[in-house]
Amino acid sequence: MAMHFVDLKAQHDSLQPELGDAIARVISESSFIRGGDVEAFEANFARLIGVNRCISCANGTDALYIALRALGAGPGDEVITTAHSWISTSETITQTGARVVFCDTELDYFCIDPAAIESKITPRTKGIVVVHLYGQSVDMARVVEIAKRHGLWLIEDSAQAHLAEFGGRNIGTFGDVATFSFYPGKNLGAMGDAGCVVTNREDIANFASLFARHGGKNDHVMEGICSRMDGLQAAILNVKMKRLVGWNEIRRRLAAQYTEQLAGVGDIVTPPTRPNSVHVFHLYVVRTKKRDALRDFLLARGIPTVINYPRALPFYNAYSYLGHSPVDFPVAYQHAQEILSLPLHPFLTQDELILVVGSVREFYQQ
Ligand SMILES: *Cc1c(COP(=O)(O)O)cnc(C)c1O
Repeated sequence: MAMHFVDLKAQHDSLQPELGDAIARVISESSFIRGGDVEAFEANFARLIGVNRCISCANGTDALYIALRALGAGPGDEVITTAHSWISTSETITQTGARVVFCDTELDYFCIDPAAIESKITPRTKGIVVVHLYGQSVDMARVVEIAKRHGLWLIEDSAQAHLAEFGGRNIGTFGDVATFSFYPGKNLGAMGDAGCVVTNREDIANFASLFARHGGKNDHVMEGICSRMDGLQAAILNVKMKRLVGWNEIRRRLAAQYTEQLAGVGDIVTPPTRPNSVHVFHLYVVRTKKRDALRDFLLARGIPTVINYPRALPFYNAYSYLGHSPVDFPVAYQHAQEILSLPLHPFLTQDELILVVGSVREFYQQ
């Protein structure tokens, strides 16, 4: 049987008949937009993360845009973010009219380097968007301290880090607002697009729920956008949410096996977990100077891998207007040449893991 990078079929098979029943109920109730399942999702997810409010929306990208608008980002502002992420993190900053200011990353942890943030702060800087990349928490102690000292707001893009922790506290509870994606392949994924914003700030929650739904129903207090989680996705997420803790546990166990069995193999650098934090391994990303050859070798043996992501954000054409060169972000630039995501998901079998590890070893023995 072919190995999958992410095995959604195995996941969904394991949730039957509960999943089918939930979907059938939404259809029988015709509760496609809003309705009981969406309200239950918002209450469940807020409780799970440990925040007062959760506002569901159509996807994780919209969640970022809604959060940025709620914090007032707009023309003339600068917003600092990481050079290493999925483009949603930075494109939504630009969409508000603000200017993206990229920051280099940490060599070991791939997250924004707190030491690099302060040199980027100018009188126009309004806020920081951090990303808990691959399921690893950002160094929130240092980032929160910097944001406070400079009077900046803080958004946590938590799309890859459902239930990751820093200092014994769930990520998503540190900033003014946090955003989540439930894209199917995420640690908690829907059967289509879905996302949400979470916050303890009532003003942000109230703005977000109005803004995401045309600025209010019947009484439009402002212009907004149309970004809704549908009832089917909410019902599906309510079923899957109960499994998230267990699935993350399996991800960590598989990651520990990879790390143990790949220690000292060739020039492979395995991903360490930040001290005082809990990693949820959305992705298991190793580094090697022989990345492209290893990737081809594994593919020939039926092992799918992914490069998350082929370039650091400042080096895509979309950001050529910023005129950056590799020396501006040496760590993020280097990582893009070396990173490789190995298959890791809660339904990866021991046989599959053994095949991946054995094949990596074989590559270095040639
Ligand atoms: C997946 C992801 C998003 C966007 O989520 P969508 O639901 O696909 O819009 C944003 N940021 C990061 C870091 C992501 O991985």
